[in-house]
Amino acid sequence: MSNIQKKIKKRLRGFFQDPNKCWLWDGSKAGNGYGVLSFYKRQYYSHRASYRLFFGPIPNGMCVLHSCDNPACWNPNHLSLGTQKENVHDMIRKNRSKQGGAKGMRNSKCKFSDDTVKKIRIDFENGLTSRDLRAAYGISAAQLYRITRYQARIL
Ligand SMILES: [Zn+2]
Repeated sequence: MSNIQKKIKKRLRGFFQDPNKCWLWDGSKAGNGYGVLSFYKRQYYSHRASYRLFFGPIPNGMCVLHSCDNPACWNPNHLSLGTQKENVHDMIRKNRSKQGGAKGMRNSKCKFSDDTVKKIRIDFENGLTSRDLRAAYGISAAQLYRITRYQARIL
């Protein structure tokens, strides 16, 4: 374990909570709901930092998935590795079961195809900014917010 990891672990220790519950990140959060840990002028996602501490390095291109529905959770018992694709599917599946299905294309107000919505979400997950996405898809900020947070168009 590197020196910096030891330091992060030391800092995190004070926050450890019930191993069976979600550990909700108390600090700042990214727009996507993930906890953000600032450390020596660098920022880390709290769930990814947690995974590295408890399980080791995250292979290139892999995501840390939540078995719970909380992007702000950093309980290592709720974290596992997966691809970007699995991550998106995982979120979609959970949202669908949580909300009991959604109307998607059947909604007459719907302007975007399911494929477009999927693409928007993937681009967003890959770090495209809100401004880029609005320009690329001609989408409003409010719509973008709902789509990227899975509040609209559950596929
Ligand atoms: Zn959790």
